[in-house]
Amino acid sequence: FLCLSTLALAQTEDMKYKDPAEPVIVRVWDLMRRMTLEEKIGQMVQIDRTAATAEIMKNYSIGSLLSGGGSVPRPQATARDWVDMVNDYQNGSLSSRLGIPMIYGIDAVHGHNNVYKATIFPHNIGLGCTRQKDQQNNLDLDPELVKRIGAATALEVRATGIQYAFAPCIAVCRDPRWGRCYESYSEDHKVVQEMTEIISGLQGEIPSGSPLGVPYVGGKTKVAACAKHFVGDGGTIRGIDENNTVIDAQGLFDIHMPAYYNAISKGVSTVMVSYSSWNGKKMHANRELVTGFLKNILKFRGFVISDWQGVDRITDPPHANYSHSLEVGINAGIDMVMVPYNYTEFIDSVVESVKNNRISMSRIDDAVFRILRVKFMMGLFENPLADYSLVDQIGNQEHRDLAREAVRKSLVLLKNGKSADEPVLPLPKNASKIFVAGSHANNLGNQCGGWTIDWQGLGGNNRTAGTTILSGILNAVDGGTEVVYSENPDAEYVKSDNFSYGIVVVGEPPYAEFGGDNQNLTLPEQSLNTIKNVCGAVDKCVVVVVSGRPVVLEPYLSEMDALVAAWLPGTEGQGVADVLFGDYGFTGKLSRTWFKSVDQLPMNVGDAHYDPLFPFGFGLETRPTTSS
Ligand code: BGC
Repeated sequence: FLCLSTLALAQTEDMKYKDPAEPVIVRVWDLMRRMTLEEKIGQMVQIDRTAATAEIMKNYSIGSLLSGGGSVPRPQATARDWVDMVNDYQNGSLSSRLGIPMIYGIDAVHGHNNVYKATIFPHNIGLGCTRQKDQQNNLDLDPELVKRIGAATALEVRATGIQYAFAPCIAVCRDPRWGRCYESYSEDHKVVQEMTEIISGLQGEIPSGSPLGVPYVGGKTKVAACAKHFVGDGGTIRGIDENNTVIDAQGLFDIHMPAYYNAISKGVSTVMVSYSSWNGKKMHANRELVTGFLKNILKFRGFVISDWQGVDRITDPPHANYSHSLEVGINAGIDMVMVPYNYTEFIDSVVESVKNNRISMSRIDDAVFRILRVKFMMGLFENPLADYSLVDQIGNQEHRDLAREAVRKSLVLLKNGKSADEPVLPLPKNASKIFVAGSHANNLGNQCGGWTIDWQGLGGNNRTAGTTILSGILNAVDGGTEVVYSENPDAEYVKSDNFSYGIVVVGEPPYAEFGGDNQNLTLPEQSLNTIKNVCGAVDKCVVVVVSGRPVVLEPYLSEMDALVAAWLPGTEGQGVADVLFGDYGFTGKLSRTWFKSVDQLPMNVGDAHYDPLFPFGFGLETRPTTSS
């Protein structure tokens, strides 16, 4: 009966949903009343593109696709290749019975980081350190910078035909042992709140007067953003990924929740649920917070997406009682399910649950309404297919210049000279001989960190296009300066010549979620040896640490004349040299507390036992040498 009446409707009535002159809400309702239950549930599914074909998109009315960490087409695919790929799936969706376009999502978390030659910006931890001068000449947070970064990222993402970015991560990382600490702007929720301005860049600025919570994406050069991971992802015990965040309600609402208010007020289109638990209850099952708080109290009107197989994991072991997991997750308020382990089983199971009243029809309609609203609002029905008009935007010069500016501003100067009246930085450009060393001096992969071309970022130097810190140094110095580079020199070799300065660039090897948790936070043995060998053999020694979080440095601090935290700067290593050699001053301030030893962790600003090596907000400043 349902099917026949739907068909009859489609044939006899005006297709209001196809009419761009109709208000979005009217279009959504018009479309929804034509949809079968199976088609509605299909819209709630997001599958990984490696498991998808155009045929599957068509036959199951699948709502969304993604390239997860491991499913980029091939590392060197061009923007055109991406457009062709996305359009192929989209053509499948468009040939489905009602022609509903799919939305394609990707982790563009520091630029369009899956794509060869895209501009890779510093990871969020570095962006949380950026400052600008206010009118009184005081250094203040710089939300405009992240807004510009958001706009550049959106343009590069759209250049590949993709319309949806799983960013920003608005976690408030409370423990640097967490392998995703660098995806967090700060340990301080106020910094994270300010940085949600990136959403206005990704999606466009929400028109003033828009009702609270209504999602907004402003046109063909913008993407739907995703605030993640709701909520408390950065508070798990000992920084163990996906673990339990043990904190009372006051703490959760004071520390981890506030950035969601900001994200929603900026019209964020989607929110991703966290794998983690709050006081033992999995967030994917938490109806009070997802529906009760996020949707009902905060008035979030976009769609809630699960994390990758996050719904499957509600039961332990996963898939043990699959339909139960799905019921709990969907009833908690999850609208779109990222990668159910088997999408046909998912659709069948949810149909069954609806028929047996274990999931209400109104819950399904709420989910589908939210998903379709985003699709209509962002113009996907009018412009479902990408053309090649934006392909040249990938890694364009303006974006690279912006990334270089962000690198400069993200650097934090932690030590400058053995005493304050003997500063070492900025370095003179006409020094006669400089020795450069270290695993991160000439390695783009190490400099970009995780979520770069591949998930864990294990690409090495030739992974994509950009400037290493070493090449930045070579560009910065005068013609008469001799720069000698050796990755891991022994002390005798360095001593055999008269180097006025040594620059040692060391740090953590790349990692992402899963691989990245670390209970010791020590630098690799090799890095420590390089510091020792170079700093013991040159006149003045500058150590640049490239890392996704503070690491143990206190025992080695006395060997260094100067120390710079460069975080994970991305493709524009030139930005590091710009500041080392005084074209610009150091202005960055620590977005995180730098601990002395891991025994102190967790330790955040405001804690009773606060005894850091460098406190939150610390950062020495220098003046540019070349400006007027
Ligand atoms: C991560 C998310 C990410 C998703 C899609 C998950 O493993 O937790 O942050 O957006 O994968 O790649």
